[in-house]
Amino acid sequence: MIETTLADPRLVEITLNGETALAHADATILDVCRAQDVDIPTMCFLETLTPFNSCRLCVVEVAGSRTLIPSCSRTVEVGMEITTESERVANTRRILYEMYASTVDLSLSDDDTRRWMAKYEVKPGRFGEYESHRKVKIQDDLYIRDYDKCVMCYRCVAACGTEAQNTFAIDVAGRGLSSTISTEFDVVLPDSACVYCGNCIGVCPTGALMFKSEYDMREAGSWDESRQTVTTTICSFCGVGCSLDLHVQDNRIVKVSSPLDHDVTDGHLCIKGRFGYAHIQEEAGRST
Ligand code: SF4
Ligand code: SF4
Repeated sequence: MIETTLADPRLVEITLNGETALAHADATILDVCRAQDVDIPTMCFLETLTPFNSCRLCVVEVAGSRTLIPSCSRTVEVGMEITTESERVANTRRILYEMYASTVDLSLSDDDTRRWMAKYEVKPGRFGEYESHRKVKIQDDLYIRDYDKCVMCYRCVAACGTEAQNTFAIDVAGRGLSSTISTEFDVVLPDSACVYCGNCIGVCPTGALMFKSEYDMREAGSWDESRQTVTTTICSFCGVGCSLDLHVQDNRIVKVSSPLDHDVTDGHLCIKGRFGYAHIQEEAGRST
């Protein structure tokens, strides 16, 4: 993104952490930082979805701006002076993590979240020890919704809506700490518009949405990613050609995802690709 010349009219010159850099005029600050290997924490951001600005963890300082700026959604401008790590930025991110940790169960968050929380010496109990607020754990045949782990990043709503599935089965209901992801009129998922594509699970960063297979194995203490392999293959159910990542443990498929950078799927699948593997396990069972 950066390696071109100033003669290119699509480029703007900016200052990033004191160094001059060139960036495409339609690039976001986060795009530029990633291209320059400048590390920025994110939680609600996902490359395949439009930035939603809910987590605010990616904030940076921009000279002349009174407030901190969310880097995922702000595009660069000529002469912009950006500072990605300052005391103000670090304090803001630390407090945000501490507020998340006091209201949400982050135990299954990704390694990146744990790494940043350690870096900023986050004190998870600073605003009170986490305790379950919503006590809602909805079990389904195919997946689990555990709202105690939900950080309201809106990724699932976007994936169910115009960004991928266009089914609009879920949205946000309620206010403040009582807000939650809900179906229309809070009906159970089988009575909603849900088509069980699992695209909401595929984008959830905290384990609030999880394959039933993974959930059951975690409950039984048998979930072990160090013993899992991931095999990429092409879904055979139709001619679209979706790429599948089969996560296998102990010779059984334990979940199915699709690569975010695959140009057919952008990480999204339908119910057949995502969940249609039971017959394989049965066939394997018969032959052993
Ligand atoms: S499984 Fe698919 S249709 Fe159902 S809520 Fe999730 S994204 Fe929407
Ligand atoms: S359920 Fe997951 S994807 Fe949906 S808003 Fe909550 S944390 Fe985000």
